[in-house]
Amino acid sequence: MKKITIAIDGHSSCGKSTMAKDLARELNYIYIDTGAMYRAVTLYALEKGLISEQGIDEASLQREMEHVMITFVMNPETGRPDTYLNGKYVEDKIRSMEVSKHVSQVAALGFVREAMVDLQRLMGEAKGVIMDGRDIGTVVFPDAELKVFVTASAEIRAQRRYDELKAKGEACDYDEILQNVLERDRLDSTREISPLRKADDAIVLDNSHMTIEEQKEWLLERVKEVLIS
Ligand code: C5P
Repeated sequence: MKKITIAIDGHSSCGKSTMAKDLARELNYIYIDTGAMYRAVTLYALEKGLISEQGIDEASLQREMEHVMITFVMNPETGRPDTYLNGKYVEDKIRSMEVSKHVSQVAALGFVREAMVDLQRLMGEAKGVIMDGRDIGTVVFPDAELKVFVTASAEIRAQRRYDELKAKGEACDYDEILQNVLERDRLDSTREISPLRKADDAIVLDNSHMTIEEQKEWLLERVKEVLIS
């Protein structure tokens, strides 16, 4: 069967990665979580002390970019890829509130985006790939055969994130998470380079009132439509 490229973009914490990972498993495609890549760069900058109250030390981060090596390794237990930064497992660290607070500022930097987009294009070159992010259908793979733009109400998204962090045993506060979701939406949509927007040819999926199973079915139908067209 022919292999296609599937781009899943949308707002923060609306379950893009869950649906993309499940679909990748179903289709035997490669899944790439581009948010994890921006989160890994942010973690690197935090660990190197390049982010402070004053902001980001952009010049130093730009110099350091060549030392930021991001890889994904399939976890046989979960059936999903884990993120590694310079050979170190960072899957849990990159999901912390500390990283969430700074990631949208880091992701707005031109040199960071350039490096990540180059890497993403390389990773998706062979097709048979599902990539989720903010600019996949608009910038990274504008020719993707299937583009989905996912959204859900901010309150529902914050609740999902809260449940996720809570399940991992991380101390968290619903209002703080809601503010973070809203602030990241604002920064991601208003930034100068590759802002979050729906590609003209993307299909919108509002999953506010859908179960994971329902959205999986919905997505599989869209894939089938493309494959038989
Ligand atoms: O998808 P996730 O919420 O993990 O992404 C974290 C952040 O990374 C987003 O809020 C956004 O600022 C940035 N991002 C981006 N472009 C992408 C993917 C993520 O700017 N393609």
